[in-house]
Amino acid sequence: LAMVATEYSRTRQAVTGALHSLADVVSWNSSAALVFDDQSSARLTLAALGAKPSIIAAYLYDEQGEVFAYYGTSATADAAMLPHRLPQESVLARAHDKGVVAETRGGYQHVVHSVDFEGDHIGTLQIVDDQSELHRMIKGMYLVSLLIVFVALGLIILISSRLQRIFSDPVHRLIESMNEVARSKDYSTPLEKNSHDEFGVLVEVYNRMLLEIAERDGQLADHGKRLEKQVSERTVQLSKAIMELEVSSREAIDAKNTAEAASLAKSEFLATMSHEIRTPMNGVLGMAELLSASQLSPRQARFARTIQTSGNALLEVINDILDFSKIESGMLTIDPHGFHLGELLEDISELMYEQASQKGLDISLDIPTEARVALRGDSLRIRQVVVNLIGNAIKFTSEGQIQVRILPEPGQQKHLAFTCEVTDSGIGIEPASQAKIFEAFTQADGSTTRRFGGTGLGLAISRQLIDLMGGDMGVRSVSGEGSTFWIKLELPCEETDPNQVALHHSDLKGHNVLLVDDTQLNLEILREFATSWGMGSAGVKDAPEALKAMTDGTADGKAWDAVLLDLHLPGRNGIDLAADIRQLADYTDIPLIMLSSTHNDVDVAQAQTVGINRYLQKPVRKEVLGETLAKLLRDGSDGGEADGNAATEQRQTLFAGRVLVAEDNPVNQEVAGGMLELLGLEVEFADNGHQVLAKVDKQHFDLVLMDCHMPDMDGFEAATALRDLERQARNSGTGRSSRRPIIAVTANVQKEVQTQCFAAGMDGYLSKPFTWDQIIDVLQKWLPKHCMLEGLPPVPEVTASDVVEDSAVSAEKPILDQSILAGLQVLQKPDRPDIVQTAIGKYFINFDEKCRNVEHALENGDAGLLADAAHFLKSSSASLGAMALSELCRTLEGVGRSGQIENAQGYAADFVRISQATQSELEKRVGAQTNVTT
Ligand code: ADP
Repeated sequence: LAMVATEYSRTRQAVTGALHSLADVVSWNSSAALVFDDQSSARLTLAALGAKPSIIAAYLYDEQGEVFAYYGTSATADAAMLPHRLPQESVLARAHDKGVVAETRGGYQHVVHSVDFEGDHIGTLQIVDDQSELHRMIKGMYLVSLLIVFVALGLIILISSRLQRIFSDPVHRLIESMNEVARSKDYSTPLEKNSHDEFGVLVEVYNRMLLEIAERDGQLADHGKRLEKQVSERTVQLSKAIMELEVSSREAIDAKNTAEAASLAKSEFLATMSHEIRTPMNGVLGMAELLSASQLSPRQARFARTIQTSGNALLEVINDILDFSKIESGMLTIDPHGFHLGELLEDISELMYEQASQKGLDISLDIPTEARVALRGDSLRIRQVVVNLIGNAIKFTSEGQIQVRILPEPGQQKHLAFTCEVTDSGIGIEPASQAKIFEAFTQADGSTTRRFGGTGLGLAISRQLIDLMGGDMGVRSVSGEGSTFWIKLELPCEETDPNQVALHHSDLKGHNVLLVDDTQLNLEILREFATSWGMGSAGVKDAPEALKAMTDGTADGKAWDAVLLDLHLPGRNGIDLAADIRQLADYTDIPLIMLSSTHNDVDVAQAQTVGINRYLQKPVRKEVLGETLAKLLRDGSDGGEADGNAATEQRQTLFAGRVLVAEDNPVNQEVAGGMLELLGLEVEFADNGHQVLAKVDKQHFDLVLMDCHMPDMDGFEAATALRDLERQARNSGTGRSSRRPIIAVTANVQKEVQTQCFAAGMDGYLSKPFTWDQIIDVLQKWLPKHCMLEGLPPVPEVTASDVVEDSAVSAEKPILDQSILAGLQVLQKPDRPDIVQTAIGKYFINFDEKCRNVEHALENGDAGLLADAAHFLKSSSASLGAMALSELCRTLEGVGRSGQIENAQGYAADFVRISQATQSELEKRVGAQTNVTT
């Protein structure tokens, strides 16, 4: 088709090209005829076209489009042609523009050519060419082409049908065989090989493949059989194992249940133990306390004191063991609350100070200002740990100092991460023992148990407690040089300070204080306090330096506003220095505050006589020192005196009212009753909850002390019932409707019990065994206001009978000089244990031993021992007003020092008599004091 089309177009182009050339020649030849209007020559020219037979007509038009000359053959020059004769206007115009235009119409080719003369259009030539010849020729060509195509197709079909048999037959056979194998799964029948060409090779490869598959099949079947066998064997083993597992899981569940039951039993046992041990201990300690407060002979008093100290020691050990068991059984929980870190440590040091000073040790406390913040944590447990560390430090140190330091880590906003270090200068711990001592019941050196006592539980408990608080604990130590125990904790800061002390810093700002202390560390701590209050300060080490600083004034030439001085200074001591300062013309009124570095309240009286305004015990609390300074600077140095009296008055608050003691144990009834009665309260007892309800219904009570565990109806039930009754009475408007305070008393110290108490509607909580201070605290807090009495005279009247008129000694000094004790009483601080009682208590700690030493020394002629013991008794007796004994001991000390002990034999009888009289007088004084304070 393409060939035909190409041929057709080429032929047409050739025909058209020839016609164009012809038209060109004819139009050129005709131009002269047109110019000269020579029609005949024009016809002649046109007639020349007869040489080309396919041209059937030719027209020459003049300029106006009229036929000028015509040529036509006989066959075609018919009338039918004429309507088509004239070319259209548009064709003429195009011919005029282009020179020539060709178009096909009705099977004829029209060529229209412009006739020009010297560039001007003078006419138009139209040649009509018959194309039928051309069409005939093309038709012929079509026919030949078709013929060729059909012949070729026939040949192709013939050849391919023959070839197909050669190629597709073997492929079909292969496909059939494959289908058969797939259907029958029989890989054993090979395909027959018919040729040696590529199809023959294909059949061979196919047969090999079948063979391989058949072999694999065989192997697979074998393997499957083996596998099946194995699976069945394993299934048997598995079911056996499952059975065993079931048995052991049943056993494990049983064991778990048993363990849980055991743990429950253990916790119940602990609770019971705690109760069972504390209840009789309550009796022992309470009774011993009551016994001590009664009129006893010196021997009996000594026994009572021993019962108390041993009882307290026993209670501590029991507490340790109970704590330890609680930790072991995971029952110990941490109870976070707001507390003030600085104050907690100051409290602890104050508490431990007495114990340290008995061994001549000093406790220094270094708490930087950043650590004086309110935190959230379990302060009771932190206290327990630090008390244990300081207790150990005291126990294992014979001389030197114990330092407690807080090292805060900087850069924290909402938390305080700090290390608390307790450093001592004691025996130290061998490196090998350092890790061991944190294990329970382990001590660094077995022999220490005999030397120092202890259970080896303290550090184990401490570490567990610190672990529970998410902290860490450890020790650094050099054997023979001392140890540093440290704890690291991170606690969240509390937004409001629970014990915010309203200290008027403005009262301190700009004042200058001189600090006198021979210990550099103490000076640094005091200077830090002063700086934080905006005060100017300078520190000096001894009396001469202090006096020089006083006369020189401050660095900018001002006078000092206050002096803080240590009692113990090298050379002249603090009291002498204070006396010297008072002699200076400018400083007769300057506030003087004395800090005692060894705890000896008996120095207080002496300090007072030389005009010391305040006597504070080291380590001094920052707030207390700040307040004391502020008050003295505000009120002048007289302020102290007035304040001392006020404090004494405040201390003399008495109670009056009725208390119902619900307690089933008669000993405990006795103890609680005895204490309450001594405190001035009227006491009624109930043995169980029913009695409580009955008594409350009939009588009025200002407060109920409710033991939690009682027969028939326990304290919880009774409290709940009591609250219900009160509510009913309130609603109905009858009976006693006011809410009575109910204080739970229990030996069970677990936290859940406390929660249970509050849930039952009880208000407070008193744990057995309780001390005077604890019960007084509770009463002060919960007794209604009208039950608080005030206004007892601060010091009992000194009557003639108070000064024992012993015939043998009256001529010399009085056994007890009440005025000295009265002087001591004035220095009583609010909220502190009674100063006179404390002083006498401390005096008695060593009294027996020293008396025995004197007697022993006199008997055996031991001059050294006599001098030491007599020296000790001399000064301490004088400070308490035991003047007769002090005087006698002064003599005995002189004798001891001179070494002529044989001269002293005659004093033995006097010594026994006076010492016993002194002891009994002081004990009486303690008894009287107890009555006064209660
Ligand atoms: P305890 O003091 O009741 O024996 P602890 O657990 O508190 O039990 O102490 C365990 C042991 O660690 C002590 O027995 C002692 O050997 C050693 N230890 C503890 N603190 C110190 C210390 N500050 N100096 C020397 N050794 C110490």
